[in-house]
This record gives sequence, structure tokens and C-alpha cells, in this order.
Amino acid sequence: MTTPRTVTIDASVLAAIALAANEAYPNEGCGALLGELVAGGAHVSRTLPIPNSEAGTPRVRFAVAPRDYLAVEREADRLGARLLGFWHSHPDHPALPSGTDRAYAWEGLLTVIVSVRNGESAEIGAFEILGAEEPFTALGILESGSLVPVTRLSPHALV
Ligand SMILES: [Zn+2]
Repeated sequence: MTTPRTVTIDASVLAAIALAANEAYPNEGCGALLGELVAGGAHVSRTLPIPNSEAGTPRVRFAVAPRDYLAVEREADRLGARLLGFWHSHPDHPALPSGTDRAYAWEGLLTVIVSVRNGESAEIGAFEILGAEEPFTALGILESGSLVPVTRLSPHALV
């Protein structure tokens, strides 16, 4: 399987992620990332919302219920798309993976993290693991059609 090195994300998807992360605040929000593998990376053309099933501490972690995982896989199949990974938000924490994120990361799936500061989406980062025992590797994020790296989600994207 091709290993994504750069994640290209459609502007509409970046806006949808920012909005969903803001709405989930002060809890963690999460969603699925759908699209396709392309030369040198992955192209995310759609995000699907996923309810945060972590009942105990939704402010500091998220969990994807098996039925929700199956639902997004089915929806990806229906759309002829690939499930590329998941995004989740870090309320008032950096867009860097936690130990828990590493423990739950799956090889071959992207981990995208959005930092939400005082209810506004801010930094965004993309990570992957290249093996079951490997640490996270950071990936570059580009908005489709642009060569400028995306490191923040601007509130203007929500207009
Ligand atoms: Zn996290």
C-alpha cells in the first residue's frame, strides 16, 4: 500500500472540520476522512460526522464505536471512496498526538488533530504510523489547488 506523505484536503472539508470541532467544544469532536490515495499522498474529499462515544471523559479523549466505524466504512463503499482515517479535536490543547492517540492509532489510517482554542479552531496536524510499534510521523497538509501548507484553520473558512 502507498504510504501517504502529503494530505490534500478540499476547502469545503477543512471548513466542515473546523465547524464540527467548534460545535463539539468544550468536548472533543471527531469524524471520518474519506477520499482516495493519490501519488505521494492522500486526497480527502469528504468528512462524515461521528458521535463521540467516550462517555467518561469526552473533554480529553474520543472513542469511535464499532457500529459507527462500520457505518462510515459502508458509506465509503457506497460513495466509491476509501476510508482514509479520522480527525478529532483537542480542546485547548495543541494539535499534537497524545499517548492515548498513539495507543488507538491504526496502521494505514490517518490521524488528523485540530486544536480548538476558546471555541475557535486553530492549528491542524496530520499524523500516521508506519508500523505497529512505530511512533507517529507528521504529514504535510495542503488545501486542494493550493501549494501553501495548511497549519491553521482560519475562522474565515467558515464563511
Ligand atoms: Zn487526541
